[in-house]
Amino acid sequence: MKTLFLLLIATWIMAADIEIEVLGSGGPEVDGRASASYLLWIDGKARLLIDAGSGSMLLFEQSGAKLEDLEAIALTHLHIDHVVDLPSYIKAGYFSSRKKVLPIIGPIGNQYFPDTNTFLQLLFGEKGVYRYMSDVLTPQSDSFEITAESIDAANISHHHFKSFELSIINVNHDIIPALGFRIDADGKSIVISGDTRNLNGQLEKLTQEADIFIAHHAIPQIHGTYANTLHMTPAVIADIAHKSNVKKVVLSHRMKRTIGNEEESLKLIRESYKGEVVFAEERMKIKL
Ligand SMILES: [Zn+2]
Repeated sequence: MKTLFLLLIATWIMAADIEIEVLGSGGPEVDGRASASYLLWIDGKARLLIDAGSGSMLLFEQSGAKLEDLEAIALTHLHIDHVVDLPSYIKAGYFSSRKKVLPIIGPIGNQYFPDTNTFLQLLFGEKGVYRYMSDVLTPQSDSFEITAESIDAANISHHHFKSFELSIINVNHDIIPALGFRIDADGKSIVISGDTRNLNGQLEKLTQEADIFIAHHAIPQIHGTYANTLHMTPAVIADIAHKSNVKKVVLSHRMKRTIGNEEESLKLIRESYKGEVVFAEERMKIKL
């Protein structure tokens, strides 16, 4: 009995302290919100930045996170509202004590978008717009090196980091190459939908039994424009969460189309999903 008690105490003491912080809860509009960005905290250190939309960097600074602690940056896709602050992070890293390589993970390209490696070359390469920092793409960098990994994952691709595992899958965002992410750490899990309509049900491959499902809530149920081909409706979000037995849904990437309609969205979601639902706000930190 005493051994069991001590074992329980030890497990409790050793359990990692895991949190996900919303740095940006908005989309690309002028709406008082930063654009999509999330920060994974484990044991008080920022380990993974997911997306870097406009305003992300300021919120990162306010959160007290350190660039030295990041194990990777993961980009769901290369739309402006998900990546435009990336150069600011790299420049700020130059003034930090970071020395170790910073991997940047993102999608492959197509005729409309560069792949992640080309994207970094277009930013920091010899002919890039920020060519004055081109050494950051080399091991000879004055500060630290960034590396790119362009992921094409029709089926889940697993990536191991020091303090978490990242599972990645392609999701449909019309013509834009896009990824969904699942983070697993110490038995806890967070799924980030990225921008997707969830055509072909790709997200369900990530969301099974997830503790937190950050779902991008950019459109209301009825919306007769092109946006329907890009984003999930509240009913689609609810269906995924219900079928996957997700513990908590966080509605993010909020836009003027959905802001002010929270009650309606919630009512629709409640029709099939009975778990907890929260609306994302800047600097909201959710403990797992
Ligand atoms: Zn977006």
